[in-house]
Amino acid sequence: MVIKNVSLDIVCGITSKLPDTGRSEIAFAGKSNVGKSSLINGLMNRKALARTSSQPGKTQTINFYNVNDFMYLVDLPGYGYAKVPETEKAKWGKMIERYLHTSQTLKAVFLLIDIRHEPSANDKLMYDWIVNNGYNPIIIATKLDKLKRSQVQKNVKAIKDGLKLRPGSRIIPFSAETKQGRDEIWALMDELTGF
Ligand code: GDP
Repeated sequence: MVIKNVSLDIVCGITSKLPDTGRSEIAFAGKSNVGKSSLINGLMNRKALARTSSQPGKTQTINFYNVNDFMYLVDLPGYGYAKVPETEKAKWGKMIERYLHTSQTLKAVFLLIDIRHEPSANDKLMYDWIVNNGYNPIIIATKLDKLKRSQVQKNVKAIKDGLKLRPGSRIIPFSAETKQGRDEIWALMDELTGF
């Protein structure tokens, strides 16, 4: 898809009613600092529409980015902040789950994992949640430029094994620095949204 216009249309807090957008949605999940804002900005050709380097404790929201008045990229709250109290984490877990459960037009969930690291317990929990809500997560292995090319296959396999990916699951390495992987992700999103 050629990006013509993008805007942050809808911001949902913990008590907000989730919208029925009537347009295809693609959601992005991942632990804080994994590179989620950088990916979303990269996909939209924007430098800083989605906030990067979000700080612990900042207001968490679900953000709906309108792309070309055709579809929404849905930025789910990052998880895994050590400093956030358990009660707060549980509320956000419920919010994410509520979104996965209620969206009428969600086409796919992308789960971001840092290509340098094995999936954490929270990553595995999120993967299972997504699966339990009826979606087969597409994995984006972020920060590809931080690895030597010779290490990529090994690390991709470690992520596959760590999450116990179901057969046929896709995993796409991406770099926000070089934009490697961007075209593949857009080709997939075009297919999923019937563009
Ligand atoms: P978020 O908390 O998941 O939204 O993560 P951000 O997008 O804010 O990224 C966290 C940090 O990782 C920032 O300092 C980014 O510049 C850096 N980062 C994100 N993606 C990449 C990438 O593909 N390559 C490199 N080298 N750094 C990245």
